[in-house]
Amino acid sequence: MAGGKKLILAVIDGLTPDVFEEAVETGSAPALAFLARNGRYRRGVSTFPSLTPVCLSSIATGGHPDIHRIPHLVWWHRGEQRLVEYGSSFAAIRAAGARRSILDAIFNMNEQHLGRDAVTLYEALEDAGLTTAAVNITCYRGRTPHVPLVPGLTRPAYGPREFFFYSLFESEVTGAPVAVFGRSTGSIDAYAAYVGRWLVTRDGFDLLVYYLPDYDYASHVLGPGGSQEALARSDAALGALIEAAGGPDEFLERYAIAVCADHGQTRVDRAVSLESSLGDVDGVLVTASNRAGMVYRLPACREDADELARRLDGSPAAEVVLYREGAEAVARRGGEELRFAPAAGGWATSGDAALLDQPDALERAWAALANPNAGELLVSPPLGVELTDLAGRSHLGGGSHGSLEAGDSEVPILTVGLDGEPRRIVDLAPVALAHFGVELPAYADAA
Ligand SMILES: [Zn+2]
Repeated sequence: MAGGKKLILAVIDGLTPDVFEEAVETGSAPALAFLARNGRYRRGVSTFPSLTPVCLSSIATGGHPDIHRIPHLVWWHRGEQRLVEYGSSFAAIRAAGARRSILDAIFNMNEQHLGRDAVTLYEALEDAGLTTAAVNITCYRGRTPHVPLVPGLTRPAYGPREFFFYSLFESEVTGAPVAVFGRSTGSIDAYAAYVGRWLVTRDGFDLLVYYLPDYDYASHVLGPGGSQEALARSDAALGALIEAAGGPDEFLERYAIAVCADHGQTRVDRAVSLESSLGDVDGVLVTASNRAGMVYRLPACREDADELARRLDGSPAAEVVLYREGAEAVARRGGEELRFAPAAGGWATSGDAALLDQPDALERAWAALANPNAGELLVSPPLGVELTDLAGRSHLGGGSHGSLEAGDSEVPILTVGLDGEPRRIVDLAPVALAHFGVELPAYADAA
């Protein structure tokens, strides 16, 4: 462990590089500005679809969806022949079955859906004898059973040794206020700050994964860049850790820290139904939410993926449509095709490579298609367009994310006291493991 320092990995959901850079420059986010003065900053790239459950799984495992197998906020479970909906909107949760959705989001995502071959930071570090802590992050799989604090619920969730999850699981009695009331005024980040202060005061971890979702929530409503007040609250949640350590100098002496976002956000001017854009076709199932969609071919479907993709030529729902054909992946955009596949030291392509000019697009598209839980077609909509969810809801007039586009995909990555140059969210887990001298999983690249 470099200099023997403990490590904090802080994730501010939906924070774009533009907003981060401006807040640091103007000093409107004092904790971030202090950390930036003492660290190294770069713009990084998320995964695809750039949606929170997918991205947080990439941050916690160092793998893209081909490894961690969480494909979207909403997807078709082929084994169980049912929809999985982690929470696109309250109405979508009701449409998918509220009880089932809550169990999927709280238990099944980690216990059953998260890939067996993926290794979480908590698993890798605790197997090496270290103590890990997680606050509110949805990818929490670890070795320690925690029983919910809700009377009558006895099913344990397996998390890190120190596990705090929206007042539902708490490995210690901290006195933190209940997390889930007063969402729009920042109750979740306030809960995280309380627990984080408690953990830092007691020196209770080697790694703390500190997830702050309230910025994304505000940005969905107000649009990207419109939520300065929410950013001030996320910043205060970081400031609480610095204060609990005894001040800025003491904090930097004790801790290395990485601060990042899971994905960006872009404005929504138009809400479109992907399902109606496909036209009248039998035997397909569409899952869509935010700015990403998937199309599953059911046994009754008589059209192949290529024919289905052509149906979306010129559709307002689709900027890029991706599918697999044999050993290759195909991207359709504006009626043109790009074929690609991994090759020694890069990619073999045929067609116009400029069709996939978004950040790390080939790598991210390939990994998303290689996820066995993904649909046969993946759809990335144009800028400004959001795909309506199961209940027809959208964030029209606000912000959203999920696509391959740069605005949804670029994230700020700040590291302080850490070796390595993480430039993708999948680089963060390898950098954290290397910090503690713990071996990386075979699928992960050193950064
Ligand atoms: Zn979001």
